Amino acid sequence: MKTKITSDQLDEFIICHKCHTLHKKAFISNGSKAVCRHCKSVLYHRDDALIDKGLALSITGLILFILANVFPLIRVDILGQEQVITILSMISRLLESGYYIVALFVVYLVFIFPIMIFLIYVTLFFLLKTAQKEKLVQDLLILLSKILLWNMSDIFLISILVSLVKLMSMLEIHIGLSFWTLTLFVIIDLYMTRSIHIGELWKIKEEIYREQK
Ligand SMILES: [Zn+2]
Repeated sequence: MKTKITSDQLDEFIICHKCHTLHKKAFISNGSKAVCRHCKSVLYHRDDALIDKGLALSITGLILFILANVFPLIRVDILGQEQVITILSMISRLLESGYYIVALFVVYLVFIFPIMIFLIYVTLFFLLKTAQKEKLVQDLLILLSKILLWNMSDIFLISILVSLVKLMSMLEIHIGLSFWTLTLFVIIDLYMTRSIHIGELWKIKEEIYREQK
């Protein structure tokens, strides 16, 4: 005889992402974490301030990202003439040179995906904080888990660093404000992807909206 398992019952269990052992979720206190019995990898954390922290970090990240796109990345002296290079001018130069596919990739990786991810984060944390629109939160979490795979802002920063080191031997380069805001943005971005897991947000979502029902 088959027994039907409801999604609420499934929510009581968690699978270790490393060794795939099934665990029944247990209550843990604020600031602690639950680890797998077999491989000791972390199953979930409990951080009661996660939503506030997430909201503050994602708003800061969004502002830094906008600043990084407005201000110059670097200033280069070419034959006594100062040239200002911004992220957007880099993309338009790629287009002018006929590298359409590369430009399209760059636009997606350094512009569309990061801004989408941070807009989703801000909306998500705001909705979770105010306990509104459960269905939208659910859809946003699913979308986020898909586009986070395309988050490569760290690779973009590293490639800028590599080209800077190469250019520095040939030209006089002044680092612009955008470089620092971009660096801070990538640090926040990395911290958020490492410390805030979709699974945890999903768990918080379940708790928040269950209280409402
Ligand atoms: Zn395990």
